[in-house]
Amino acid sequence: MMNKDYIYLDNAATTPIDPRVIKVIDKHLREDYGNPSSLHSLGLNAHKILEDSREVVGTLIKAEMEDIIFTGSGTEADNIAINGVAYKNKDRGNHIITSSIEHHAVLHPFQELEKQGFKVSYLPVDQYGLVDIEELNEIINDKTILISIMFANNEIGTIQPIKEIGEIANDSNIIFHTDAIQAFGKIPIDVNELKFDMLSASAHKLYGPKGVGMLFMRNKGKKEGWGKYCKPIMFGGGHERSYRPSTENIPSIAGFAKAVELAREEIQNENENKKLTNLRDRIISSITENIEDSYLNGHPTKRLPNNVNISFKYIEGESIILSLDMEGIAASTGSACSSKSLKASHVLLAIGLKPEEAHGSLRISLGRFNQESDVDYLFDVLPPIIERLRKMSPLNKDTKYNIKK
Ligand SMILES: *Cc1c(COP(=O)(O)O)cnc(C)c1O
Repeated sequence: MMNKDYIYLDNAATTPIDPRVIKVIDKHLREDYGNPSSLHSLGLNAHKILEDSREVVGTLIKAEMEDIIFTGSGTEADNIAINGVAYKNKDRGNHIITSSIEHHAVLHPFQELEKQGFKVSYLPVDQYGLVDIEELNEIINDKTILISIMFANNEIGTIQPIKEIGEIANDSNIIFHTDAIQAFGKIPIDVNELKFDMLSASAHKLYGPKGVGMLFMRNKGKKEGWGKYCKPIMFGGGHERSYRPSTENIPSIAGFAKAVELAREEIQNENENKKLTNLRDRIISSITENIEDSYLNGHPTKRLPNNVNISFKYIEGESIILSLDMEGIAASTGSACSSKSLKASHVLLAIGLKPEEAHGSLRISLGRFNQESDVDYLFDVLPPIIERLRKMSPLNKDTKYNIKK
């Protein structure tokens, strides 16, 4: 249905599948339908594909392959980690820490745990979206059992001081989980150097299929054995070390591994990130220099190579998105899941924007298949859109006296 010329600038919401991944999935869907638990050769073959994929996915973050658990999504990985650690350790302590700018896949499990009696600290962030390390040090106490802080933010692209957080968690013997769903496959990650105990990723944010994710769970670490610090929260056939019991989705898992393999090449040769960073910085400077009353949200340099988030005063992000869509460009305001509700983004409020400023935000997230010409086209169509919307806006400084009371 989509026109081939449609320009997709919403890669933080999801990415198109890389055609090389589709080829792998197609083959496995047709040929490798065996259940990896079966004893016949079709089953053994499926099992081999599963374990090979586990190795490929683990290698990207320098993890042992036994520490990779495939899940049904990124959200599922976050839930298995957060709930599993909280319930396993609740006799030791009931204090858990996260940040105020997490994705809902982390924030909502924490809110649910709070209802169940856990004490939750939501770490504030500064104007750039960085968590305060001093404050983290202060709030940790002998009841703290879990720190879950995202690697990079999906709305404003800010990359957290994750190494320092890992050291603090490690020194205090607290389980450290990170939602690395936006960072995985984009920036180099070494789970040993960064001292993660647990890390979530999702295939559809790196040109793989939707509905498959993974959780890195360290077996040898603070506590020997997964079962000593994380309790399963789903029960069934015992697949994936009982943390994600269900017949493994071999085509999608193999597609995930193919996407990881391609991402590893791109991280190594640095071409993709160089291209994205250049496009990103061109968009940021061109918009903020040429459109009045527009400014960048998030950190100028500690940010994902593909993320732009800009607020435009006096107008609504929703109207910008709809106008861009009519010109054949897909972008976003706030996060994809909250963009259908009219609530201001909790991330933009947390970095200090007023609700009306948060409503006027535009997120442009670039990806592998974007070209220089996509950005040129954006520069052609965006300024007239902003101008037209501002003329109609009751919030505009020039027209504010026209509001009928
Ligand atoms: C997309 C995303 C998720 C959710 O992943 P799904 O695979 O869609 O469940 C969680 N956290 C972050 C930071 C994300 O960007």
